[in-house]
Amino acid sequence: MVIYVFWKLDELTWEEAGEVLRKADFVILPAASLEQHGKHLPLSVDSIRADYLVDEVLKMSDKYGLKLVKLPVLTYGCSEHHMNFPGTITIKPENYISLVYDIGVSLHRHGVKRFVIMNFHGGNLAPLNIAIQRIRKDTGMKTYLLHWTSFARDIINAWTEPGWGHACEHETSIVLLYRPELVRREKIVKPIIKPRPPISSFRYFDEITDTGGIGDPTRSSAEFAKKLVEQVTDRILKALKETLEVD
Ligand SMILES: [Zn+2]
Repeated sequence: MVIYVFWKLDELTWEEAGEVLRKADFVILPAASLEQHGKHLPLSVDSIRADYLVDEVLKMSDKYGLKLVKLPVLTYGCSEHHMNFPGTITIKPENYISLVYDIGVSLHRHGVKRFVIMNFHGGNLAPLNIAIQRIRKDTGMKTYLLHWTSFARDIINAWTEPGWGHACEHETSIVLLYRPELVRREKIVKPIIKPRPPISSFRYFDEITDTGGIGDPTRSSAEFAKKLVEQVTDRILKALKETLEVD
């Protein structure tokens, strides 16, 4: 009998995994990216967020009576718009859709009832929307897409000035909370944002900002991040609970 409070798929044996995957209310794929995050943050910001913030959800899941399983973080994502900054690795959208699709189909074959992609990178949203549609169509498995920042937006808006978005006060605060040793504090500056054309277009990030960031990382605060994470974790668990009830 498996008695773990929360489960990480890659830490289980196949016998344990067989039982846990069938019993889980939701199996969660944390989706991230490997891309530039300004001059003061590492390329792994979205993976750090994905790993720690999904762990927070798992840790609190008992309170809501939810059985959750976490897959390893999908470290790579769709980051073409950051490719003019060294170190960024991007997966073509068609390959990314196929990869996520294959993960979903594998879970379905092991008896998973509900699959949630918890996403931490805006560039993944369009391909993930296609992937969840294809998984549902071909397997019938309930498949969801949850963007962490959508559950945090109003709280961040109330705390800071408009214009935050990338390697900003929000992301820097989260890294200060979990991996402070990775923040190059002497490199923190407010980026210069270039004017935006009135018609929407695809733009590379070096056409938007001088440092690679959007927002004001000089306002960052680990204390704010701690409060934000508590509230957002609670909101996400409530949303998962409600999803279970209505679905
Ligand atoms: Zn990011």
